[in-house]
Amino acid sequence: MTESTATRIDGAAFAARLRAEVTRKTALLHEREGIAPGLAVVLVGEDPASEVYVRNKGKMTIEAGMNSWQHRLPDTATQAQLLQVVANLNADPAVDGILVQLPLPDQIDADAVIHAIDPDKDVDGFHVVNAGRLATGLPAMVPCTPLGCLMLLKDHLGDLSGMKAVVIGRSNIVGKPMAQLLLKESCTVTIAHSRTRDLAAECRQADIIIAAVGRPRMVKADWVKPGAVVIDVGINRVRMADGKLKLVGDVDYDAVAAVAGAITPVPGGVGPMTIACLLNNTLEAACRRRGLAVPA
Ligand code: NDP
Repeated sequence: MTESTATRIDGAAFAARLRAEVTRKTALLHEREGIAPGLAVVLVGEDPASEVYVRNKGKMTIEAGMNSWQHRLPDTATQAQLLQVVANLNADPAVDGILVQLPLPDQIDADAVIHAIDPDKDVDGFHVVNAGRLATGLPAMVPCTPLGCLMLLKDHLGDLSGMKAVVIGRSNIVGKPMAQLLLKESCTVTIAHSRTRDLAAECRQADIIIAAVGRPRMVKADWVKPGAVVIDVGINRVRMADGKLKLVGDVDYDAVAAVAGAITPVPGGVGPMTIACLLNNTLEAACRRRGLAVPA
């Protein structure tokens, strides 16, 4: 096996520090203003992965000193029922953040539900108003996963200005907002996708590669410029030779770590940042809705 030269970017440790900061600021907000931020999570159906995510989000919200509510609907729920739950949460002054866990059952139009959420409570940052605010440089709720990637990049590299970044993936929840954030940092940004010609050549130009595809170990060592920083968003479950399932990213970690300057592992890289950024967004939403600054 080739020797790893890259710095391993420890997203789990960074996320733990960020959660501690959010907890500290939440306590200050409570002490000074008597406000406890609150996050409501809506889960439709019984998807096992979603159950785990929702449970973890609830646990960490409470650990941060915030109020946490869960609203559960059966997988037969209608769109009208779900929209009613969202309307109730929009109207509830104690609720600062609303998160509808995706994916939703087929009978429900996810876009219609996301766009029914009050943009100021849209802590996932998926509402078209927040996407527009981000794209035009206005204060926005920023989607948690790309926000987490940006924090890790800035922690490792400092100023990103002038760097060439390739984002692989153009989804509304990861690829596009990631590209917007990097553009805001004055990177020169290329967004690659399934129709990109010669993806390897595009990647070889990059100082920063963000892989958000959903294809196990797709990014190979000879796609990476020596010293580049590689952020792996992918979460893929692959069956190993012994029959067990293993979590791997979109990057061929061992081989790429021998070429890159720094790389995030899977698990323990971007994943833990997503929940930490959700808590951060909930605190921001609680302050912004009341015209308060987030405590320093
Ligand atoms: P989507 O399926 O919505 O988007 C995948 C993107 O990858 C699309 O834009 C698609 O292109 C592109 N793509 C697919 N195949 C190729 C290819 N061969 N070459 C180049 N591009 C390709 O996924 P998401 O953005 O929602 O998620 C991406 C990954 O990140 C998944 O593994 C997901 O599990 C993970 N994830 C992790 C999170 C975390 O907390 N760590 C949070 C969210 C997602 P096209 O548009 O042309 O189809």
